[in-house]
Amino acid sequence: MVTGERGAGAAPTAGAHAAQRAGEGPRVITILGATGSIGRSTMDLVTRAPEAYRVEALTAHRSAERLAAEARRVGARLAVVADPDCYGALKDALAGSGVEAAAGPEAVVEAARRPADWVMAAIVGAAGLAPTLAAAEQGRIVAFANKECLVCAGTLMLDLVRRHGATLLPVDSEHNAIFQVFDFARPHAIRRIILTASGGPFRTFDRTAMAGVSAAQAVAHPVWAMGAKISVDSATMMNKGLEVIEAHFLFDMPSERIDVLIHPQSVVHSLVEYRDGSVLAQLGSPDMRTPIAFTLAWPDRIEAPIEPLDLARVAQLSFEAPDPERFPALRLARAALQSGGTAPTILNAANEVAVEAFLNDRIGFLDIERVVDGCLGNMAHDPPRDLDDIWSVDAETRHTARALIAEL
Ligand code: NAD
Ligand code: MG
Repeated sequence: MVTGERGAGAAPTAGAHAAQRAGEGPRVITILGATGSIGRSTMDLVTRAPEAYRVEALTAHRSAERLAAEARRVGARLAVVADPDCYGALKDALAGSGVEAAAGPEAVVEAARRPADWVMAAIVGAAGLAPTLAAAEQGRIVAFANKECLVCAGTLMLDLVRRHGATLLPVDSEHNAIFQVFDFARPHAIRRIILTASGGPFRTFDRTAMAGVSAAQAVAHPVWAMGAKISVDSATMMNKGLEVIEAHFLFDMPSERIDVLIHPQSVVHSLVEYRDGSVLAQLGSPDMRTPIAFTLAWPDRIEAPIEPLDLARVAQLSFEAPDPERFPALRLARAALQSGGTAPTILNAANEVAVEAFLNDRIGFLDIERVVDGCLGNMAHDPPRDLDDIWSVDAETRHTARALIAEL
């Protein structure tokens, strides 16, 4: 639990946000990354209970038509595309709707600042950092999906959240599961947390087979339908590495007390082990609308259109240890967390550039880890003094990663 009101380690119950809201009208919400996988799942929940929400702003990268249609559908006040070249298309598509249109990265940040009770941070990658920080600076409840921004800016981001009285509610299914079973009043009673991982589409592949996989194969996840970037991250298991770092910051746990367990059915979303040997887990059908609904209603619960978990039909839950030889990304992420400073920023930026190159068929699947390893090895990991240091390390890493890719 990370919140400015109660401080890390406090119980996540009946917060001031919830108290303020009691008896008030619809919850005012903004969705950053409204056209993506998480954004669309959020919109699905919102449109099922239109009386409960008023949409302030929706943002997207380039999909102007889709964004405009969604903004019209829910009567949003503002729609923003991050790419300025898409402004004309957005404006045309919104003509006569009464929805304000804007474009450019700064306009996305402005959208995040607009008055709202709840902001969904579901942009992919470090591109989401500035708007997510802007929402936190306004002291909002931030439903937090965009893990890359916490990996990128870690302690600085948490400082800002605390200073401005914002509340981060994890959307990532594993972190949402831990949030639900973590005794924030007694963190000393916790021995370790265990993140489950589906293992991705190449769970049973050897390295030779992995060397030849295509982007299409990597994006076809066996359980979850997600955006392309996180799907590739799941295939390399860098996603779990990013999640170890995310869990470190969200739950104030050192790397050695965060374990990873492969669980292909993705029914047990994660576990917390207490000192007395009790292990508490959160289970559910693999559907991101459950953790999103949890954050939308928090600290209450709402109906969500989720297929009930039928354990008799699932019949078997299986578990295995991750294989560090076949999936070195997890080791790289732990090493970056251990090094501290800007090492996680470098890990994240290098991975973003490498995944994009893989998706564009410019490098092979196993080159992703080579690029990340190369950047971590080539660059200094000094502690960042401020966010400007983060931006410059992020930019420098992208430059280094592109140079490494050009040499491959
Ligand atoms: P996605 O690619 O489907 O959607 C990304 C969204 O961000 C889109 O709306 C896109 O228009 C917007 N966007 C992309 N680049 C942008 C930019 N430069 N500036 C502004 N907006 C930009 O991704 P997703 O799968 O929905 O994932 C979103 C985030 O949630 C990621 O950080 C991911 O790791 C995290 N997450 C996703 C899932 C999932 O099931 N999809 C699960 C856990 C965590
Ligand atoms: Mg996850």
